[in-house]
Amino acid sequence: QATDTLAREGPSSPSYDWFQTDSLVTIVIYTKQKDITLDSVIVDHQDDSFRAETIIKDYSYLINIELSHAVQEDFSVRIVENVGKIEIVLKKKENTSWKCLGHPLENHNSLVPKKDAGLFYRQCQLISKEDVTHDTRLFCFMLPPSTHLQVPIGQHVYLKLTITDTEIVKPYTPVSDSLLSEFKEPALPNNKYIYFLIKIYPAGLFTPELDHLQIGDFVFVSNPEGNFKTSQFQELEDLFLLAAGTGFTPMVKLLNYALTNIPSLRKVKLMFFNKTEDDIIWRSHLEELTFKDKRFDVEFVLSAPISEWNGKQGHVSPALLSEFLKRSSDKSKVLICICGPTPFTEQGIKFLHELNFSKDEIHSFTA
Ligand code: FAD
Ligand code: NAD
Repeated sequence: QATDTLAREGPSSPSYDWFQTDSLVTIVIYTKQKDITLDSVIVDHQDDSFRAETIIKDYSYLINIELSHAVQEDFSVRIVENVGKIEIVLKKKENTSWKCLGHPLENHNSLVPKKDAGLFYRQCQLISKEDVTHDTRLFCFMLPPSTHLQVPIGQHVYLKLTITDTEIVKPYTPVSDSLLSEFKEPALPNNKYIYFLIKIYPAGLFTPELDHLQIGDFVFVSNPEGNFKTSQFQELEDLFLLAAGTGFTPMVKLLNYALTNIPSLRKVKLMFFNKTEDDIIWRSHLEELTFKDKRFDVEFVLSAPISEWNGKQGHVSPALLSEFLKRSSDKSKVLICICGPTPFTEQGIKFLHELNFSKDEIHSFTA
């Protein structure tokens, strides 16, 4: 079988190859890395162009080809983990023998630092929209059948809309469809739906437009970005989450992942800062979760409560944090994740350092 694998610099540079049967074309990416998972590769097939971006550590390896023959819309992606091999199986439209895979497009077979790779967008369809609070909604978008994309935990994507002839792009963090769903059944590995909790700002540029979309309308969704790694959970005993307003969004998948996959975990505590009770996202889910899982606890802090509120009040402060951040034992391994408005996150990090938490024990979510 013909091959257009290129020799690359250095022993660990990825390469690719392809082979075919009467009905299938398989593209194989050899990453030479062992920790490759289904969220390491993003595949888009649009018209004749086939694109597969593989994230290897902080690098992006791109396959970008105009295929020589037509293929069906859907395809499958498999990982052979122990050898770091990715297999993408395309279905031919016609059972003819291909002489070549196709013609290289821009940056084909290149390895570049991820930060230089640029964002690729595909159109996703609005499937449903549901009120969560008075100003926050749960949006569900469907990926095209010709896309394989799983957003890694703790990462965000960019949504793009054209508003009065100008493309506007804003970052959003995918969540699960519910805080409790992943305890019921594991998420399907090739899930086609992406959920977002998005607060609508009436005077905002982007969110009112997003709110005006009708079911069936499209929005462009980018590849994921972000520097959180689940390896930060290794051997973790205490996980503390500090969230303000929609800064809760990265915590959703983090919480589900930690409670399900980290055997060493003893305690997960969320301190959730909001202006009023009406602003608390998924309060009932959070309270239910405290009953379902004894390791989990939540504390609500309001900055503008009504006088009857008898919970915690105020803004993030050293007093609130030192009382909240109690380790389950003196030497327990802790991680503190923080996300919210920039002044909240900056002040929070400053207070955490003052309380002697080290850089490695703090992860902040920012753009
Ligand atoms: P903007 O036009 O940015 O305005 C926001 C508010 O500020 C409005 O009330 C507006 O009136 C006010 N405002 C704007 N300009 C001024 C000004 N000059 N002076 C005073 N007030 C002003 N949000 C979510 O809801 N969910 C998420 O999952 C989410 N994830 C994010 C992930 C990352 C990494 C980051 C960085 C942000 C995330 N955000 C998220 C926030 C999101 O990206 C947008 O900033 C937010 O939706 C507001 O967008 P907008 O264009 O509607 O509002
Ligand atoms: P909000 O205005 O409703 O405020 C929520 C709480 O944040 C307040 O009750 C208060 O406790 C705290 N807070 C607000 N302003 C503060 C200040 N100046 N100093 C100290 N504390 C303050 O919040 P919102 O409208 O939901 O905004 C959420 C913010 O989170 C947005 O700025 C959004 O961009 C950010 N966000 C970032 C990410 C990320 O970086 N990954 C993800 C999601 C949301």
